[in-house]
Amino acid sequence: MTFVITTPLYYVNDKPHLGSVYTTIICDSIARYKRLVGEDVLFITGVDEHGLKIQRKANEMGIEPKSHCDEISKVFNTNWENWDISFDKFIRTSSNNHKLIVNEFYERVKSSDDIYMGVQKGWYCVGCEEFKDNPENSSTYKCPIHQKNLEWKNEENLFFRLSKYQKEIEEIINQPSFIEPIERRNEIINFVAKGLKDFSISRTNVSWGIPVPDHDKHTFYVWFDALLGYVSAMNSDTKDNSLEKSINKGWPADIHLIGKDILRFHAVYWPAMLISADMKVPKKVLGHGFLTREGQKMGKSLGNVLDPDLLLSKYGNDPVRWYLIKDISLGNDGDFQDKRFVDIINNDLANTIGNLLNRTSSMSRKWFDNKVPNNEKILGENKLKFYAKNAVKNYIQHFNIYKLDLAANEVLSLAINTNLYLNNNQPWVLIKEKDNLPLVKEIIYNVLESTRIIGLLLLPLVPELSSKINEQLGSIYKEEIPWEQQLSWGILVSNSILPKPNPIINKLEYE
Ligand SMILES: [Zn+2]
Repeated sequence: MTFVITTPLYYVNDKPHLGSVYTTIICDSIARYKRLVGEDVLFITGVDEHGLKIQRKANEMGIEPKSHCDEISKVFNTNWENWDISFDKFIRTSSNNHKLIVNEFYERVKSSDDIYMGVQKGWYCVGCEEFKDNPENSSTYKCPIHQKNLEWKNEENLFFRLSKYQKEIEEIINQPSFIEPIERRNEIINFVAKGLKDFSISRTNVSWGIPVPDHDKHTFYVWFDALLGYVSAMNSDTKDNSLEKSINKGWPADIHLIGKDILRFHAVYWPAMLISADMKVPKKVLGHGFLTREGQKMGKSLGNVLDPDLLLSKYGNDPVRWYLIKDISLGNDGDFQDKRFVDIINNDLANTIGNLLNRTSSMSRKWFDNKVPNNEKILGENKLKFYAKNAVKNYIQHFNIYKLDLAANEVLSLAINTNLYLNNNQPWVLIKEKDNLPLVKEIIYNVLESTRIIGLLLLPLVPELSSKINEQLGSIYKEEIPWEQQLSWGILVSNSILPKPNPIINKLEYE
């Protein structure tokens, strides 16, 4: 069984914004976790390149759409490498083997008698690449998201018989595990209850798209094309991609992680298209919230867009990851606040975790000849062992249901408890009496061992920081031994050498 997780295929009108970075980091964290617990993971990301918006953007710049897409898709690829994203596949929807999949899929849907020619009339937002339901109700005829004028369209299009799948879609969206979080599910249930309408899957005025076979001037509607990118990505490295081969690589997807604005496409249109083509529907669609900045919506006109490149170069990967994963409950909206960011990183990572490791390792080196103390009570029970066991258990439970913020908080709680244990026991006082030596050894060992487990639990969340903690404890993590096995208590070896302490994370300054 392959665990398939996808980011949205990002639209190439611009370089990645903070929202795309957020989605991709969450997917990366889940993919890393799944690999650690022994699953065979296929982590898919990529870019959605077709459509009127891209065609116009390229025209404005006086270049071919293809060269624009080449450039921006390269930017995305490099970006994910800079963020150390562990994706397995990067799909471009302008690639030839994606086109093969779209054509084959279309043939299947056609043979299910789900395609017909009709006339599409309505108000269209090019930014959304979507017809808007009732613009008559608004006085402005503007897209509520883009605040741009809608365009009237009246053209012959090919339609997909979405209405035929009303019952199937109702059944799917009523499964509690299909759409998360629950508030999002209710929105979709209400939308579907109004009755599904067929939707057009081709355009006649868009040249930058995949041509529809046997229909001159028609190209596939960008969403019909883009959603199939998830399937074509599965087997994208061969020149003769086919639906069967892609499916055999592990379709259906286990999770589509997306922003809440594109939930309808993923939870309604997409499953219906798949059923029509006799394919399995994804197991879960997880719609996350939007990011604001200091409580305000980010936008070019407001001039408050937070550039993820700047964040990365200024603070590094781990602090941004930790903030986005720990401070935002997946599914809810999140707010990026500079002061809060600095405070969280300094408190959680620098003080609570970094400082704990640094001072305990220094004491151990000073008192025990640069080594981990020889603890004769490793097998016995102690408070920290109890805390660690619980933290591991809860962490795994949370991660398994994608409550990444709660998993991160478990690690932090363990670190807080470990600091308390150290402060309550005061080994720096005890060491003054020779008789206390066995007790001091036990205390220091327990704290170092707890820190080792903290480091391991951080591996899917903040990988760089995790490996720094591991290095500081003598690099004892072994990739060939199952990760979960290494989470048990007592693996740190008595008398093993402790490297010279280095701060694992620097404190940030608030400007
Ligand atoms: Zn729009």
